[in-house]
Amino acid sequence: MANSKKILVTGGAGFIGSHTTKLLQEQGRDVVVLDNLSTGHVSSVSCPLIIGDLSDRGLLNKIFSDFDIDTVIHFAASVIVEESMILPGKYFENNVVNSLNLLNAMAAHGISKIIFSSSAAVYGEPHYLPIDEDHPKMPTNPYGETKLMVEKILKWYLTSHNLSSVSLRYFNASGAHSDGSLGENKAIVTHLIPRVLRVAAHQTEVLQIYGNDYSTPDGTCIRDYVHVLDLAQAHFLALEKLDKEQGCFAYNVATGKGHSVTEVVNAAVEITKKMIPIEYAIRRSGDPTSLVADASKITNELGFSPKYSDLETIIGTAWVWHQRLLQENLAKIVA
Ligand code: UDP
Repeated sequence: MANSKKILVTGGAGFIGSHTTKLLQEQGRDVVVLDNLSTGHVSSVSCPLIIGDLSDRGLLNKIFSDFDIDTVIHFAASVIVEESMILPGKYFENNVVNSLNLLNAMAAHGISKIIFSSSAAVYGEPHYLPIDEDHPKMPTNPYGETKLMVEKILKWYLTSHNLSSVSLRYFNASGAHSDGSLGENKAIVTHLIPRVLRVAAHQTEVLQIYGNDYSTPDGTCIRDYVHVLDLAQAHFLALEKLDKEQGCFAYNVATGKGHSVTEVVNAAVEITKKMIPIEYAIRRSGDPTSLVADASKITNELGFSPKYSDLETIIGTAWVWHQRLLQENLAKIVA
């Protein structure tokens, strides 16, 4: 039976939030987005959008009074690891205090289901590979700490407020929508794949590879890249889980396959047919050698099955999106 209640998506104008919102709409779910547009874009949203911040408790109460919401998907957060090292206060405020505001407003209005954007950063330096959900959690940066703190808060809100949750621990989110309509559009570009594509598009001269002296087959770091459309699907599966069962759950969202920085660059050369000059730089502080998930829990329990997370599709869709952004920005300059 169709669910007539609404889903509130915080941060739905951002990268993963916008893909998930679009998927939910395609599945016939009724969605409303709350976003402060600090990094998100109005153009990424094609459902009702409330522009506002999670620090505004009055607004949260009004949203839960005005709309018949039964589930929240909570993406809104500050997400730049390096920035979190310099400005931890911003991260504890935006990611922890604001999440508490949201949870308290939900509790006050009897809303009992939340899907939370967590991160592989909750684990810190791997003690073993692949990383399963029981792996020790010792974040090495404030960003990861804030995600872990919210996960812990969720555990207690199940006991005290009957609030069920699924925390999805994303590994390396990447790629763009296969129809070219959505993608990563950040003012500060820190992730490997968009940086590689900037070099392919001649926006940057050379890609710096942070370290080629790691204990991996080619000396560069290994990550588990998961396509944003597969991430979106994981949220849909998490919704189904919460429709059936009460509890506090956590899942890795990943493929279980790792790719080195060199493999990513080589694949990008192949796909874009462009030269991608590289230079080896010193290691970036805090980068673990290898981060690869054990994804069997989400596969077995939720039926997760990534369809877009091969490197070719990830880089191919990101490249189409990157070129579109470039053209749009050029058109703005010319106009
Ligand atoms: N990386 C790199 N050059 C860059 C950006 C990233 O060599 O310009 C490396 C980084 O050191 C890491 C991998 O690419 O080993 C993935 O980094 P990203 O920032 O995309 O994701 P992270 O795993 O840090 O969240």
